[in-house]
Amino acid sequence: MVACSRCCYEATVRPVPLVNHSTPIAQIWALLYISSQLCTIADPRVCYNADMQPEVCLIDTHAHLHHAAFDDDRVAVLERAAAAGVARIIEIGYDLSSSRAALALAEQHTHIYAVVGIQPNYAHEAPPDWLAQVRTLAAHPKAIAIGEIGLDYYWDHAPHAQQEDFFRAQLTLARELDLPVVIHSRDAEADTVRILQDAAQDQPGIMHSFSGGWDYAAACLAVGFMLSFSGPVTFRKAHALHEVAHRTPLDRILTETDSPYLSPHPMRGKRNEPARVRLVAERIAELRELPLEALAQAVWANAMQILRI
Ligand SMILES: [Zn+2]
Repeated sequence: MVACSRCCYEATVRPVPLVNHSTPIAQIWALLYISSQLCTIADPRVCYNADMQPEVCLIDTHAHLHHAAFDDDRVAVLERAAAAGVARIIEIGYDLSSSRAALALAEQHTHIYAVVGIQPNYAHEAPPDWLAQVRTLAAHPKAIAIGEIGLDYYWDHAPHAQQEDFFRAQLTLARELDLPVVIHSRDAEADTVRILQDAAQDQPGIMHSFSGGWDYAAACLAVGFMLSFSGPVTFRKAHALHEVAHRTPLDRILTETDSPYLSPHPMRGKRNEPARVRLVAERIAELRELPLEALAQAVWANAMQILRI
């Protein structure tokens, strides 16, 4: 298993291995296992090292590691992430089969969690019972959010009305299931804000790979959402995004890679991987004139709060 062995909180949330708990021996074994994993220090929002000191533990809140781009070296990619201090990876589905793949990966790795849903570019391909299928996938113990959902007027694969229907239906589903949402929005700022204001007030949500100006950021923050920054915040000329990363309240910031896409500077254009979330975190810390440790601790606490992992 690849995981952040330095992080005490990892131990507190490690699930009991899937066993049949119906026999007394299995129940005793499960209890022993749980007690052996419990961490005695208190604050679950903080990541600790083996000496019980707060640690720089990073989180990649958005990756697509089931992508074929990782078929040849997925294990090495996970090892590099762990070596870079990436203690949690959130694996994101964009249609039914990638949502199933995200769950399969999460089943194999303690520190990986899955997000399930239909991304707008795949709405037109979804079967008639797609919502029931997403609901079933979301019942999996390692499914922690509904996503990525939203609007994409850049690729424009599905009609706008259909994108909006899928977006609203999945916002409603997330509210019913008491799960946060992960939002994908591209070239659709006005409609995204309109729908969020109308249907997602006070719903826990993440604007994935946020890339826009301060007015758009402020509108998303006003709905109550967090902003997750990725590679583009490291680009030298992304001045508007630098301003957003500087002005967003510290308790609303998350970090991600969107691997295999959006590789940060100086690896721009190459295949991205979760280890590089460190470059994103370093750049945000620099923009805010904070030590990396302080930024990482804040992001960690934010992620634990919204994702409840
Ligand atoms: Zn994505």
